[in-house]
Amino acid sequence: MTSNEEPLVTSREAAVTFGTGHTAVVAVHGATCAVHRGDRIAISGPSGSGKSTLLHLLAGLERPTSGVIDWPSSIGPGDPSAAPTGSIGLVFQTPSLIPTLTVAENVALPLQLAGLEPGETARRTIACLDVVDAASLYDRLPEELSGGQAQRVAVARVLAIRPPLILADEPTGQLDHASGQRVIDALLTAADEIGAALVITTHDVTISTRLPTHWNMHEGRLSAAEPAGANR
Ligand code: ADP
Ligand code: MG
Repeated sequence: MTSNEEPLVTSREAAVTFGTGHTAVVAVHGATCAVHRGDRIAISGPSGSGKSTLLHLLAGLERPTSGVIDWPSSIGPGDPSAAPTGSIGLVFQTPSLIPTLTVAENVALPLQLAGLEPGETARRTIACLDVVDAASLYDRLPEELSGGQAQRVAVARVLAIRPPLILADEPTGQLDHASGQRVIDALLTAADEIGAALVITTHDVTISTRLPTHWNMHEGRLSAAEPAGANR
């Protein structure tokens, strides 16, 4: 991490307004921030404060109504203003595993789609499940998993594609404290394993204190975010 290293993603005054006229909701007001390689960032704030919308901007799932989001380092496919596909790993609050596939098949699927050779796919699937402490769940179907187990498998599936940036939107929002902590363990271990940056949104202070950098959202306004290059 050096001050002149290209950030993975930057937001310059990015704003999102949903709807128009008197029903318009400004979900994010001009947010300026940057995520660098190795960062561990918790974005906290109450429900409705714009955390998910900001994360969706950083993921390229949402386009800013005004302002600019870009992915200046090599995670983009050449055009820095295009959302990079495959190079950002996403974990959501609600279960996202494919219900008809086993745990191992869920983790292997993105590798198969990427054309990885079957032997390497199998090896990497087991290794990734091991990292999130879910190797024993290999043959289970998603319906046979607890919420925490399903989230750890979702983390393994992200880990398998080795993205330089992992974004997790309230990954522990539906879990009890102990299961939630294990999901955070899995995310931190996975990010360390592949040297990825990690951004987690949460309204739970016991989660945010596990990460060294804290950003806050309040009524759509981002604070305590270090702009690109600051504080390094
Ligand atoms: P958080 O994740 O912090 O709970 P969100 O980013 O989901 O907050 O939402 C921020 C604000 O934007 C809320 O007022 C929410 O109702 C509104 N909002 C979010 N998504 C949409 C949408 N697709 N259409 C209209 N309003 C939305
Ligand atoms: Mg949200």
